[in-house]
Amino acid sequence: MGTEIYFDNNATTRPLPEVVAAMSPFLTEFYGNPSSIHRFGSQVAQKIGEARTQVASLIGAADPIEVVFTSCGTEGDNAAIRGMLEARPDKRHIVTTEVEHPAVLGLCQHLEKRGYRVSWLRVNQDGMLDLEELGRSLTDDTALVSVMHANNETGVLFPIHRIGEIVKAKGIPFHVDAVQVAGKIPLKVAESPVDLLTISGHKFHGPKGIGALYVRRGVPFPPFIIGGHQEKNRRAGTENVAGIVGMGEAAGRMQRNLAQEAEGIRKLRDQLEQGLLQSCPDCRVNGRGSDRLPNTSNVSFRYLEGESILVLLDQFGICASTGSACTAGSSEPSHVLRAMGVAPDWLQGAVRFSLSRFNTAEEVRYVNEKVPLIVQRLQGLSALGKLAEEREKARTGGGIGVRG
Ligand code: PLP
Repeated sequence: MGTEIYFDNNATTRPLPEVVAAMSPFLTEFYGNPSSIHRFGSQVAQKIGEARTQVASLIGAADPIEVVFTSCGTEGDNAAIRGMLEARPDKRHIVTTEVEHPAVLGLCQHLEKRGYRVSWLRVNQDGMLDLEELGRSLTDDTALVSVMHANNETGVLFPIHRIGEIVKAKGIPFHVDAVQVAGKIPLKVAESPVDLLTISGHKFHGPKGIGALYVRRGVPFPPFIIGGHQEKNRRAGTENVAGIVGMGEAAGRMQRNLAQEAEGIRKLRDQLEQGLLQSCPDCRVNGRGSDRLPNTSNVSFRYLEGESILVLLDQFGICASTGSACTAGSSEPSHVLRAMGVAPDWLQGAVRFSLSRFNTAEEVRYVNEKVPLIVQRLQGLSALGKLAEEREKARTGGGIGVRG
């Protein structure tokens, strides 16, 4: 097989072999329903309990009972927001940000059409929130605040602790979408002013189709999916046992050496960015001025089309993305970059590289070697690119432009 470099880990990650091995018996001999009284059921229920403890430990929850298994991050986000609205039926106002994942953004737009008032917090050019704007937006009518921990497109990290302090000072429930954070940097939800927190198994080398919602003890939480008594009446439906076991295994493995692994990934990411900034004229890193996830780099190539870059990257065996996998296929420029005020000539040429602990320095070198070739080729093809080249030539007196 030729070169295959996977730099799209914010879209999804490769399940660890140990995760697949841990899941397999729960698709074969341990097929019991965990609600059954007999041994087939109880052995499975016990394993779900172990997975709950592993997931609680990954996010730093005080008690495994605070973990509710869901089918994915999108369900966790929906359950948290709809649950809080149902728990506070007299409140009609939601506070969120302009840069959320569609799982929150789309739901809040939908709720807006149903008569809720939504305050959409803006971000600055570095992708950062204005905490004073947040403070001003909270009213007696605010049902909840929902803010992502890390942006899936740029990796920009919001200061969740400080946001939580502002929100909790007003007694308002606070939900955090931590789908891009769990397994990438350490989390200590028990020590944070957070009521609800969403994560998803496939973002940290677990299986797809399984997620979890942290619900702090004592927070009233009407169920989103109603039916049987599973998950202590908080999420009905026969459990995705193999998925839960796989997510638990991934949670257990990813928290080992998490801080150290994150530093290794950060070095690779920085190497990638430095290489691209030096070798590609008219290239910039979006959100570079903010605290970011260690694995994510969102790079704009001026005047170019991100999708054309992706096609050529794929020909070299390099897999990246233009932004959120959930918005891929739409020709609309990224709502995140637009909210950051990225100018039109930089907007279409954004490419997201997202790394994992399985990437290597050799892979980064390969990408750093191939991207400038792709950029040159596309600039040659693009009339606008030609214009940019001429401008660059005029600026540098004919030499090749280098950006530090
Ligand atoms: N929230 C964020 C920040 C995400 O990045 C994603 C997925 O990309 C989701 C929510 C949705 O998670 P899932 O794919 O498990 O539904």
